[in-house]
Amino acid sequence: MYEQGVIRPPSEASSLLVRVTRNCPWNQCIFCPAYKGTTFSRRTVEEVKKDIDSMAVEYSGYANMIKSAFLQDADSLVLKTADLLEILTYLRERFPALDRITSYARSTTLKRKSVEDLKQLKDAGLTRIHVGMESGSEKVLKMIKKGITPEDIIAGGRNVVSAGISLSEYIMPGVGGKAFSEEHAKETARLLNVIEPDFIRVRTFAMHPQSPMQALVKDGTFVPMTDEEIVAEIRLLVSSLNEMRSYFSCADFSLNLLMHVDGRLDEKKGYMLEELDKFLSLTKEQKQAYSLLRRSSYMQYPIDVVYNDELMKQILPEIERLEKKDEDGFNKYIKTLMSYQLPQPQTDEWK
Ligand code: SF4
Repeated sequence: MYEQGVIRPPSEASSLLVRVTRNCPWNQCIFCPAYKGTTFSRRTVEEVKKDIDSMAVEYSGYANMIKSAFLQDADSLVLKTADLLEILTYLRERFPALDRITSYARSTTLKRKSVEDLKQLKDAGLTRIHVGMESGSEKVLKMIKKGITPEDIIAGGRNVVSAGISLSEYIMPGVGGKAFSEEHAKETARLLNVIEPDFIRVRTFAMHPQSPMQALVKDGTFVPMTDEEIVAEIRLLVSSLNEMRSYFSCADFSLNLLMHVDGRLDEKKGYMLEELDKFLSLTKEQKQAYSLLRRSSYMQYPIDVVYNDELMKQILPEIERLEKKDEDGFNKYIKTLMSYQLPQPQTDEWK
């Protein structure tokens, strides 16, 4: 038997999951249900080694086919460097075919680690770190209680890049709401241009029904954005990013409306802007039809699907029905569909 945490990045779907800490040491972000209702704890090196042994037995028939591992949960780098080195070394001994080991980490934790420590971790096999920066705007970071500053994000990110470890920064269009949308896009781009991460992974914001952000909606502090407004925000973000070698990725997360806006900025920035503009130039009804199609399933569609008359004949009455049902009924329905894709908190008390 061995422990496993509740989440991992989509890009780690086929990775061995090795739990080195439990849950999130911060756990206060008001948009994030993943670890609510849980308590953070560090696992001992001995506990983790026992888990690795159990996995090695379970996968003994095909251990040589396991090429990647992910260290759980939300911030594995909080462990002492010496402990992580021991875990990484042991993991590679028991699974010698591993050529990729990755982890989540918080910017504040990465800022505290020296480049020298990170280089040692890289030499022991840590190949990629995933960081949820969400926004480069100080105001947005404060509003969502992220517990990090733009300076933390830059310092932590630059430490990882300087150590030669691959870096994925996760950003969250829409999380600033209408009031901060422009600042959110511009400041996020400003930080990413300084950090130059290997991957910029887009995670379009969706609100969980239990999220404390619902209270901000009620008091008017947070005004949720429509799909169209979020696409416009992403357009501003992409146009503000340098043509650097970072890979801008919408493809690995189904809450991103335009999943095909995806590619290296030094090769495909022009193409991505064209696709975003193509969507923004549609009529209101065409945009709504596209949103409804995408949000009703996990299927991806080219934007041109809205020129299919037969399909539009089926969709438009449904849009009309939703619009009549309630004030802002269409957008409310889209938001409900989006919220179904979020992880569930492990408590009913999260508010
Ligand atoms: S977003 Fe990350 S840091 Fe914030 S509570 Fe969730 S897991 Fe923890």
